[in-house]
Amino acid sequence: MKNTFDHPLPNAQGFFGEYGGSFIPPQLQQVIDEISEVYQTCRQDPDFLDELAYLYKHFVGRPSPIFYAQNLSQKYGADIYLKREDLNHTGAHKINHCLGEALLAKRMGKKKLIAETGAGQHGVALATAAALVGLECDIYMGEVDIKKEHPNVVRMRILGANVIAATHGRKTLKEAVDAAFEAYLKDPVTQLYAIGSVVGPHPFPMMVRDFQSIIGNEAREQFQQMTGALPDNIVACVGGGSNAVGMFTAFLDDAKVEIYGVEPAGRSLTEKGEHAATLTLGKPGIMHGFKSYMLQDEQGEPEPVYSVASGLDYPSVGPQHSYLKDQGRVNYVAISDAQTIDAFFELSRLEGIIPAIESAHAVAQAIELAKSGVKGSILLNLSGRGDKDIDFVVENYGQQYGIESLL
Ligand SMILES: *Cc1c(COP(=O)(O)O)cnc(C)c1O
Repeated sequence: MKNTFDHPLPNAQGFFGEYGGSFIPPQLQQVIDEISEVYQTCRQDPDFLDELAYLYKHFVGRPSPIFYAQNLSQKYGADIYLKREDLNHTGAHKINHCLGEALLAKRMGKKKLIAETGAGQHGVALATAAALVGLECDIYMGEVDIKKEHPNVVRMRILGANVIAATHGRKTLKEAVDAAFEAYLKDPVTQLYAIGSVVGPHPFPMMVRDFQSIIGNEAREQFQQMTGALPDNIVACVGGGSNAVGMFTAFLDDAKVEIYGVEPAGRSLTEKGEHAATLTLGKPGIMHGFKSYMLQDEQGEPEPVYSVASGLDYPSVGPQHSYLKDQGRVNYVAISDAQTIDAFFELSRLEGIIPAIESAHAVAQAIELAKSGVKGSILLNLSGRGDKDIDFVVENYGQQYGIESLL
């Protein structure tokens, strides 16, 4: 399927209502304006769209199927369907926007893609796209994360990317962002900063949304073919919010479709630093170049956040989600670590599908909806596969679920 990008928002300045925009230093604004201009041409250029559609089909393996989760449905009493983004090449939805960003960089004559990565998922997807399109790739990563996420570091290096350690401060994601940003500012002409979600200054929230909207466009058509109707409820997890917005976009005008975005409630919603429920508990503010809900202290500095899913622990959220919350179009809810790990094992053992811990938040919300007697069908976006999480889960929760240590 070819994606077309004709959405009413954001406006020309990159605002979704009052959210989004571009709050960055003037010298960077010039470079970002150029990206914006070229992208505006690309999103209407049949050659660009054809090349992307070709890669989605032949490289990523799209369309990803929809699977009716019969056993899960029977147990909890509602029809639950999965959009299988976990079956994409590299195992998650991130490849959808990394390929788009890589094609844009090539079109602009850039030589190198740079980005930060936390757990390494964005880094691996971007290194993959860079290898395919023929660009250099520098991935900035905290020294602590480099040790923790060793397999992803190895993958990136095999793919030909440079992994550069951020060695200051707490040596994790925030420091990696600082380091990548500093490197980008030194040479914004030959490099493109490939943002990993629907966040950052305009045009990134729009651009990443456009690239991810293939998920909902496919799903809407597939679901109608399978069942003869639209889903009654759709569900996706929200970190920065790219897989969610990708799923939601095609259904926003279908007033009868209830939409749920799932944030991480972590270990506790009432304790600071123990969750990352930005839309549930945050308030509007500006960080990383855009305005959105954020978890912030009195000084407006980002608060520390936590989730069992490292892909979801971000103190802000894509500006379009803030807009959709205020409009009341999307219900934002929070799911705890414990509910998530339960759902992780339920899907694994009832359906033979090991989900990413991020995606397991959406599975848990679908189970909650079913248990509460929600009307009609539920389509959830299974954003990624859980291979990356298996050691962590068994080490921390194995005993609870009947897995004794193998050593
Ligand atoms: C990175 C990641 C997420 C969170 O990112 P979004 O931009 O919110 O989609 C969710 N699921 C998986 C599998 C991820 O790798």
